[in-house]
Amino acid sequence: HAKKSGGNNFQFFTHRLNEIAHERFVLEAELRRALDREEFVLYYQPKVDLSTGRFSGMEALIRWQHPAHGLMLPESFIRIAEESGLLTQISKWIIPTVCRQIQQWQQQGINSVSAAVNLSASFFQHPDFEETIEDSLLQTGIAPECLELELTEATIMSDPQRVLGSMAAMKALGLQLSIDDFGTGYSSLSYLKKLPVDKLKIDQSFIHNIARDADNAAVVRAVISIGRSMQLRVIAEGVENASQLAWLQAEGSEEAQGYYFSRPLPVAKMTALLKQRANFLHNPRGKTQSK
Ligand code: C2E
Ligand code: MG
Ligand code: MG
Ligand code: MG
Repeated sequence: HAKKSGGNNFQFFTHRLNEIAHERFVLEAELRRALDREEFVLYYQPKVDLSTGRFSGMEALIRWQHPAHGLMLPESFIRIAEESGLLTQISKWIIPTVCRQIQQWQQQGINSVSAAVNLSASFFQHPDFEETIEDSLLQTGIAPECLELELTEATIMSDPQRVLGSMAAMKALGLQLSIDDFGTGYSSLSYLKKLPVDKLKIDQSFIHNIARDADNAAVVRAVISIGRSMQLRVIAEGVENASQLAWLQAEGSEEAQGYYFSRPLPVAKMTALLKQRANFLHNPRGKTQSK
């Protein structure tokens, strides 16, 4: 009996594996066509300066408007895109698209807007990377300071010497550089000193239960203090409520980002929010909300 059910489990298991492989195969084929079909969209989420309550910038976050599955989040396709080599082409679309968007906002009289893009390790090390950035800046004429690059510790540590070289080149161009998901990786402090970065983004996993979890609170305090001593700005991500915000303000975090202020928004809604010149501390959750 046991043997029989074991056999069934095995059959079920291989069947499920085939299903997963098939789903993945289909998704990859669809991803391959998604760029041509213009199915990718960028959403933008504000970053808030905690000393003024104003926009300090925003982050571009990719979504896939899938014809059958609807709006898909990066967690369900970025990894497949990366593994199948498609993230390079996607990145070559994201960077100029963000630059053109900044240019359009500036043409609408929205001044000094900056936006951050997330960069994968593979694209940061790609031979076309620097040219993509330079061309996008040249073609839109936006100031390099308006473009920020977010790199994770894992990206930096994947090939430290090489990444450091590209980071220096980007810094020389005048871009802003941030370390994303800071605290989740293994970058050593001595290494951090050598990196030409402007900002540390504290990973949202440390923020969620910051008032109750002493270990997380200690990590966040430590990052804020590292930021101070290395003259790096510190931003907390994943701020969802007023008590997290109060805690971060009391501890001296300079910026914050999260659903408490605004979810990532499609361009039209972000434009409306920018035009309101919202003060996020007086009026959290600006007036426009979306998924
Ligand atoms: P990330 O760069 O750390 O982005 C922050 C993620 O946290 C975003 O998820 C954002 O929507 C979400 N978030 C923001 N505020 C809150 C909050 O208050 N609570 C919670 N629970 N979540 C919040 P999203 O858009 O699903 O992106 C996930 C990850 O996918 C990003 O993490 C980034 O690593 C990657 N990603 C997104 N867009 C791109 C892209 O254009 N290129 C690349 N290479 N990666 C991207
Ligand atoms: Mg990011
Ligand atoms: Mg992050
Ligand atoms: Mg993250």
